[in-house]
Amino acid sequence: MTLSKNRSSDPRAEGHRGRRISGRAQSESREDPYKRTAKLHEPTVCPQCGAVYHTGRWQWLPRPEAAETVLCQACHRVNDRYPAGIVTLGGAFLASRRDEVLQLVRHEEEAERRDHPMNRIIGIENEAPDRVVVTTTDIHLPRRIVTAVTSAYGGAKSEDFDQDGYFFRASWHRDA
Ligand SMILES: [Zn+2]
Repeated sequence: MTLSKNRSSDPRAEGHRGRRISGRAQSESREDPYKRTAKLHEPTVCPQCGAVYHTGRWQWLPRPEAAETVLCQACHRVNDRYPAGIVTLGGAFLASRRDEVLQLVRHEEEAERRDHPMNRIIGIENEAPDRVVVTTTDIHLPRRIVTAVTSAYGGAKSEDFDQDGYFFRASWHRDA
């Protein structure tokens, strides 16, 4: 039994805001519990971001005529502020070069989102002068961000995928 079969199509209706989904996902599937399991009609348009569901995936396409409207899982997570990924950036180097580092982070998101409409930043929070937390709608963007930041500025990164919770955690740190 997959995790997705235990869920309705609307996680908000079940009161999942702010906590992890319980249960065990099949390790091979890595299915996002926010993804709708019932097959969407084609074409379907997300009324919030305009992504179009076509040939089995969400894409950036011109809005088709007579499309159904369904909120995509990325917008759903943004609205719930319920991330699938988190990146923690820290250290004295960040404190002195914050704007530059965050510009790179946003650039990586734009490039990722162009090809993968469901992969986005939910929020960037400045928790302290030397600590920034970035949340994402997906489990792939965190790795892309820390890989890019590490290759541009050095420092140390770590990555951890929580399969059961469908959650990817990445961090980067560099001292001055
Ligand atoms: Zn959307």
